[in-house]
Amino acid sequence: MAQAKLTIDLDALRANWRALDALSAGETAAVVKAGGYGLGAGKVGRALAQAGVRRFFVALAEEGAALRQALGPGPEICVFSGHMAGDTEMIRDLGLVPMINSIDQMLRQVEALPGAPFGLQLDSGMNRLGMEPAEWAALRDIALAQNPVLIMSHLACADTPDHPMNARQLQVFREMTDGIDVPRSLAATGGILLGPEYHFDLTRPGIGLYGGLPFAEAAPVVTLEVPVIQVRELEPGEAVGYGGAFTARRPTRIATIAAGYADGLHRIMGPKASLMAGETRCPVAGRISMDLIGVDVTDAPEVPEALELLGQHQTIETLAGWCDTIGYEILTALGPRLNRAYRGE
Ligand SMILES: *Cc1c(COP(=O)(O)O)cnc(C)c1O
Repeated sequence: MAQAKLTIDLDALRANWRALDALSAGETAAVVKAGGYGLGAGKVGRALAQAGVRRFFVALAEEGAALRQALGPGPEICVFSGHMAGDTEMIRDLGLVPMINSIDQMLRQVEALPGAPFGLQLDSGMNRLGMEPAEWAALRDIALAQNPVLIMSHLACADTPDHPMNARQLQVFREMTDGIDVPRSLAATGGILLGPEYHFDLTRPGIGLYGGLPFAEAAPVVTLEVPVIQVRELEPGEAVGYGGAFTARRPTRIATIAAGYADGLHRIMGPKASLMAGETRCPVAGRISMDLIGVDVTDAPEVPEALELLGQHQTIETLAGWCDTIGYEILTALGPRLNRAYRGE
């Protein structure tokens, strides 16, 4: 079999949730948008529900609908994008909770689904989603009379603890919500690490569950093993792959492995990337192509059946460093062609 294997350790995922829950002052939800950060929202959601998660967040109503099928009735599923035109049936039939972002969405919600649960999203300075202070001042009494289940906002710079934006957003959020008797939520993974004054009643971690920064203590959740299809010996001077970008300077053993940029292994990381053959680090040789990567395995005592790209030796953050990006993008780019296998189901 040439299909690369992405193993998702659900025990590590649950351990990361428990660790973030232990740090959180109140209830700890879980963010499973983008298919559980690329790892499979249904499996991830079920594993977290077993661990005790009662409230999930997704980006889109469609994601909420799919998650409801996987989780069944019971857990609350909240939708960050709120109540968009066309979402009403999904919200009603699958029992989703939209986070209302604007006066328009508020009107849509109360006209289409009077009495149905909803939350409110406020903009405390990120300027992305939610009602701004002036809009909130105008709508506040009307919105609160409809009994929202949650009031939330999102921090723009929580991964940088010293950033003055954190304290500023905290202050704005307090000014907008102090004295209101509705559960409040401000912190994602980064906000949890900023300390209890950022936690309010509910925290909403995402990336930390999946083993990414800024939760440095997170257990790695993913392992990616890429099968070796062929091994060949090169004389000095021979080149490898498109553009001949790697030239052998010594007698060189090249393993051709079965994954590429179509699987989310970004082409740009080629010059810095390496894979593990057991304990030996083996550099990528030449360009990453769509389905194949050449790897210099000359220094490995033997060539295993598969080389490890992600695991205990190198994490999503290692790959992010090679690609000049963040762990979130590495995870969510991992493609549908990878064979997702789950440990700890
Ligand atoms: C994605 C997201 C989260 C989770 O953020 P992480 O940094 O992955 O923990 C929480 N809240 C909102 C509004 C989000 O968009």
